[in-house]
Amino acid sequence: MPVEFDPEAAPALELSRIAHRFGRVTAIDDVDLAVMPGEIVCLVGPSGCGKSTLLRVAAGLEELQAGTVRIDGRVVAAPGMSLPPERRGIGLVFQDYALFPHLTVLDNVRFGLPPGNGQRARAIETLRQVGMEAFGDAYPHMLSGGQQQRVALARALAPQPRVLLLDEPFSGLDTRLRGQVRDETLHVLKRNGAATMIVTHDPEEAMFLSDRIALMREGRIVQIGSPVDLYCRPVDAFAASFFGEVNRLRGVVREGRVDTPLGPVDATHLPEGTSVEVLVRPEAMALSLNPTGEAPIRGRVEAARLLGRTSLVHLSVPNGDGAKIHIHARMPGQFLPPEESDVAIRLDPAQTFIFPD
Ligand code: ATP
Repeated sequence: MPVEFDPEAAPALELSRIAHRFGRVTAIDDVDLAVMPGEIVCLVGPSGCGKSTLLRVAAGLEELQAGTVRIDGRVVAAPGMSLPPERRGIGLVFQDYALFPHLTVLDNVRFGLPPGNGQRARAIETLRQVGMEAFGDAYPHMLSGGQQQRVALARALAPQPRVLLLDEPFSGLDTRLRGQVRDETLHVLKRNGAATMIVTHDPEEAMFLSDRIALMREGRIVQIGSPVDLYCRPVDAFAASFFGEVNRLRGVVREGRVDTPLGPVDATHLPEGTSVEVLVRPEAMALSLNPTGEAPIRGRVEAARLLGRTSLVHLSVPNGDGAKIHIHARMPGQFLPPEESDVAIRLDPAQTFIFPD
């Protein structure tokens, strides 16, 4: 992936104060977002949070209502003016690929290129980049979903746009193929160097593809940052739980900490007496067999399952007032203690998050 983006450069795509309504529904609520040349930003969030609308406003497929869209520093949409998508210098890839069924693969890719001597060569070169040069004479219906996706990507890349916008580009593919196609796509996008914005509802896909992730909720961006920022430093409980399963505990801050059934958690940044929610990722717990005195927190194994690269252990842990809580712990590799056995639990504070309730 040779092209790295320069965070100091001017943004290739800049969305400023975008707001958008459909009747009474606020789809986008005052969003700012900039994508640098060579950078891949994924928009993620639950269904209906406004991801596709934001992409469509950037593309010019949805009429701008408020705010400004700039591409390479040039205003392409502002109140009272709007360039059509084909004049914005963008490439688009949709979930259904939207290939022209009556055109060959080569002609699909040639479609957006200016006529002239270099047109055919450029189309063939772009097909080669996505590994589809042998299919130039085929028609879209003769191709698999993954191959159609690659042709759609080639068509978007061929005119060398400064900005690429992809709306759920992999969701039409089955799980196995999706992993392969998105890996290939990531390498093609990074070689290409355009600023890329991708809409996906899949947090793992966003982490796989993104330099930065913009997490949306109800028309707003709630957090933007690297995958590590969002996974390891979530701004709230919604962000923490969006990127992976969490165990949810409740407590109250006493003398700078919260005592939980999994042990004390530092809370020196919160006022005394604050009611909090403590979120613990399953992989935040290191379990060991044959508990010794070192780790005073223990759990009883209810079940353990190998999930491939990790093992999921269901634990019952005393909550201090005679009842028990159910906890999921995830250990690397094969870790399958027998049911009803006891394990010691050591909590990793770096993967434990506290938020005021
Ligand atoms: P999904 O992941 O389900 O595609 P999304 O995050 O992309 O969702 P949008 O499609 O942008 O969300 O929709 C945001 C909000 O705007 C939703 O409440 C949706 O119902 C509404 N909406 C989107 N398009 C239209 C439309 N053409 N007419 C009316 N309401 C719309």
